[in-house]
Amino acid sequence: MSVVVPLFNEANNVEPLYDALESVRIANARERWEYVFVDDGSRDDSLLVLARLADRDAKVKVVSLARNFGKEVALSAGVTYGAGDAVVTMDADLQHPPEVIPALLEKWRAGAEVVVAVRRRTARKAFLRRASSHLFDALARLFSGDSQVLEGTDFRLIDRRVRAAFLLVRERRRAYRQIVDWLGFVRETVPFDAARRHDGRSTYSLPKLWNLAIDMIVSRSAVPLRVLLYLGLLISFASTLSLMWMFLAFYYVDPKWWYTPLAQAVVFNTLLIGIVLIALGVVGLYVGRIHEEVLGRPLFLVRGTRNIDEPARARLG
Ligand code: UDP
Ligand code: MG
Repeated sequence: MSVVVPLFNEANNVEPLYDALESVRIANARERWEYVFVDDGSRDDSLLVLARLADRDAKVKVVSLARNFGKEVALSAGVTYGAGDAVVTMDADLQHPPEVIPALLEKWRAGAEVVVAVRRRTARKAFLRRASSHLFDALARLFSGDSQVLEGTDFRLIDRRVRAAFLLVRERRRAYRQIVDWLGFVRETVPFDAARRHDGRSTYSLPKLWNLAIDMIVSRSAVPLRVLLYLGLLISFASTLSLMWMFLAFYYVDPKWWYTPLAQAVVFNTLLIGIVLIALGVVGLYVGRIHEEVLGRPLFLVRGTRNIDEPARARLG
């Protein structure tokens, strides 16, 4: 079983996390465990701490990325290297308690191929954060055809087969849980209470979360484009009607009535410009996405590894 942990500037959290994982492992030793820590271009001593751990314990594998690629990509890198029968992904800040892992393994042994840890509540999470994460989930659900795990987190276990399927997904802009949800397979959930961050601050600012939400929508559906199409049709239809009214009123009612719809149209114009600009922006999002995928750059670059017998090279090209 591989435990995959992406980390970015978590020097003070690595050892407490390792200790917590080790005590859970020792108490529940049924299968072989390994840890895959992915250093996502940390600028603090994370890599140093990891190297020290790796020297002491061969179960600790370290993948160090060439720069900060972001959590989603770091997670994918970790899953690429996590070669166990099952892969558990979790955060480094102890918000995902290792004590939940045995429950994940239990469901997996009982036949589940994806076991998602579902947040019961987040300890003292700011209101705005909680509200935005609900909005985030609602949006993702609204725009996706496939079933999503409610309140699902990145703290989840996937079977070796699911990992193989996951590695087939090539898109560059990605959200781990979205891809795993899309894959399907036999799914189970385990509730857990998210703890507070052990040390440091979350790197997920509200704007970052917003962008991730937009990414998730754009990458999984063309609904925004369709909405714009229908809006355009509606406005064109309304404009045609009002044009017809202008002519009819001018010739058959009273010549001075013609300007009423005209005045409305002038006001309406600014609204139209707004809508057209929004449409341009939405289409631009899709075009930008296409451009990014067409470039075909590797998803991540590895600067070096520890306790992994394989030359460091770019994976998942
Ligand atoms: N993380 C990462 N790369 C980044 C940002 C975050 O690997 O660019 C890791 C981070 O070290 C942690 C996990 O992703 O292990 C979750 O990050 P964070 O706690 O900042 O997010 P939150 O818990 O607020 O969702
Ligand atoms: Mg966190």
